[in-house]
Amino acid sequence: MTTMKTTETQAVKAGHREFLFPCAPPFYEDPIVLVEGQGMDVVDADGRTYLDFFGGILTTGIGHCHPDVVARVREQIGTLGHTSTMYLTEPQVEYARRLAAIAPGALQKSFFTNSGTEAVETAVMLACMYTGRSEIIALRLGYSGRSVLATNLTAQHGWRPLASGIAGIKHVMAPYPYRCPFKSPCDETCVDKFGDDLEDAIVTTTNGRPAAFFAETVLGVGGFVVPPPGYFQRAAAIIRSHGGLFIADEVQTGFGRTGDHWFGIEHWGVEPDIMVMAKTIANGMPLGATIARPEIADAWTAKTISTYGGNPVSMAAAIATNDVMVRENVPRRSAERGAQLRAGLDELARQHEWMGDVRGLGLMQAIEVVTNRESRTPSTDLAKRLHEAAKDEGLLLGLAGLHGQVIRFAPSMLATEEQVADGLERLSRAADVVSASR
Ligand code: PMP
Repeated sequence: MTTMKTTETQAVKAGHREFLFPCAPPFYEDPIVLVEGQGMDVVDADGRTYLDFFGGILTTGIGHCHPDVVARVREQIGTLGHTSTMYLTEPQVEYARRLAAIAPGALQKSFFTNSGTEAVETAVMLACMYTGRSEIIALRLGYSGRSVLATNLTAQHGWRPLASGIAGIKHVMAPYPYRCPFKSPCDETCVDKFGDDLEDAIVTTTNGRPAAFFAETVLGVGGFVVPPPGYFQRAAAIIRSHGGLFIADEVQTGFGRTGDHWFGIEHWGVEPDIMVMAKTIANGMPLGATIARPEIADAWTAKTISTYGGNPVSMAAAIATNDVMVRENVPRRSAERGAQLRAGLDELARQHEWMGDVRGLGLMQAIEVVTNRESRTPSTDLAKRLHEAAKDEGLLLGLAGLHGQVIRFAPSMLATEEQVADGLERLSRAADVVSASR
């Protein structure tokens, strides 16, 4: 096992503070220096093993260092590691073919990049070129990445470093059932109200000719917010009635994560015009993808290149990841293990009244932490304490939401029943520690 002397671990932490931008803050008061990962386990520099229920950021969807992906990447990097978009490669075409096979509806042509941010940029530019329009409607609480465009699309102040800099992006109400302003509990009947807000934004804050409505199918960084049933049917109908496209961001929700389907949007039977993906697509190798209907993809007539986009190593990783995902039927596994995880979280929430809401789809589950159930006031402090207490139990979790009040669970989709049970036990002990300290 690769471990480091404590002095070296300290040197990594000090070096990180001294030589890296501080704008990407690591989790935890005392950040973890990771040296190894295998399946659901990661090992830190001091030799401590953690059960990983966050997988990077929902990225190692089939577990760390999956042997099939490692083998395929090794083979490819020793054969041909780089080409640029100036040359054709078989892995790129092969993966694009596979993506078209699992993508909903008529989505067929792909453009590959290195990150979700670039996939989002590609989608938005494409929508503007296809429609000849320039205004985009996005969801409040959305997260879209770190470029100028993507931070402007993002609607959480903590992730927007600049003043609004790109005209033409308008934000509408997030379909957030736990905090629904219309009705509690929120249900299908609220969909029309959320739809009215979208309609109103189009006719009052744009020139009435929007290029696209852009939305994550489950808000990820927003805190695994699942919209009420019917929302996406309504939103897609509204944007289309105004001549705009529907862009679905599946960066977090894609590839079986939400259970039963390959993509989140399939839960609502809506076909996007353009879809963006990243994270789990290549199990952690850098890869973003934008897929569109052929006639939309063909509307990009100006030239573009991506030096590293679609590089053979990332494409090989994506192919190997796809092989495993199909063989293991990860949408099914996510649904099964997700149901187990959800039942455990629901049970825990019955014991701790500061757990205000449990929600999610498949193996994408969250607990929203509040000061008490009555007020529903978000509690950044208690969420942070739970996050740290889980770490002390050797369990890595995600933390998100506008106020950092949402604990996120997204283990590998190959997690076993025992591993999910183990995670829940550790979480239960961590929750007891938090409750005892209140
Ligand atoms: N869209 C969504 C929904 C995301 O969650 C993220 C990353 N958290 C992005 C886009 C941007 O992806 P990347 O960090 O790979 O640029």
